[in-house]
Amino acid sequence: MLDVCLLGCGGSMPIPGRNLTAMIVSYQGRKLLIDCGEGTQVSLKILGWKIRNIDVILFTHFHADHIAGLPGLLLTIANSGRLEPITIIGPYGLIKIVTGLKVIAPVLPYSIELVELHGKEKYFQKIGYFNINILSVDHGIPCFAYSIDVQRNRKFYREKALKNKVPLIFWSKLQKGEEIKQGDKLYTPDMVLGHGRRGLKISYCTDSRPGRELVEFVKESDIFICEGMYGDDEKKHKAISYKHMIFSEAAVIAKEAEVEELWLTHFSPSMIEPQAYIENAKNIFKNTIIGQDRYVKSINFKE
Ligand SMILES: [Zn+2]
Ligand SMILES: [Zn+2]
Repeated sequence: MLDVCLLGCGGSMPIPGRNLTAMIVSYQGRKLLIDCGEGTQVSLKILGWKIRNIDVILFTHFHADHIAGLPGLLLTIANSGRLEPITIIGPYGLIKIVTGLKVIAPVLPYSIELVELHGKEKYFQKIGYFNINILSVDHGIPCFAYSIDVQRNRKFYREKALKNKVPLIFWSKLQKGEEIKQGDKLYTPDMVLGHGRRGLKISYCTDSRPGRELVEFVKESDIFICEGMYGDDEKKHKAISYKHMIFSEAAVIAKEAEVEELWLTHFSPSMIEPQAYIENAKNIFKNTIIGQDRYVKSINFKE
């Protein structure tokens, strides 16, 4: 089971009841955070998830609404007793920015590994259980969308192991994906395991204009979390000039990418009631949810 939570759904400026952008994924107790706007810690505290287990922090870009919560969070993680390193990934400028923010969080008991993304290529990182795909998107300054994949283990078949005459002592190693050579005989995981099974995929894009590559990138996500800066279709010109999206544009991506669910987030502070515009998205993609701070969902592997 994988848990996903929106920690903050505000864009640009926090308003009462709406923190700035952040979301968190939890799998087998390990945590991955994307963005860390002001108020992220407040939501984490209310949520009650172990922040000590945040192993990775991903930054989409360096507008303040996505990163200003970082120094406080690093200090709180330090107070939680964490000693293991944390990996932080973000666009070019990450090293300078994190080094600057760390001036007010100078002594941390754990190390920080920084992965700076250059240019406009696609990237891949594997950290713990999380396969992280990274795509450059269109926001005026370097900005990346992330897609988190969690793989599902292949099923072990006792009958298959017996039929292939695999010695019992090798079963557990083969189950973990190792190959074993004994004399001229090679034992492979295929001799005891079933076919590959679909994992889980969570995609996250804020802030950006829509684009063809983004559709391919979020294809068949279980949850696609996307910015919806404005709900009203009449604000499209504004979305274009500030390089954001309106609800209906996010919904078109969700539809074309055949995702399971669309969660809208990163709302303009001028939009007090995003719910009022939900039909603009639902008319295009039915399974749309208006994000709210601490909206949580647990998803399971499908049979
Ligand atoms: Zn933003
Ligand atoms: Zn931005």
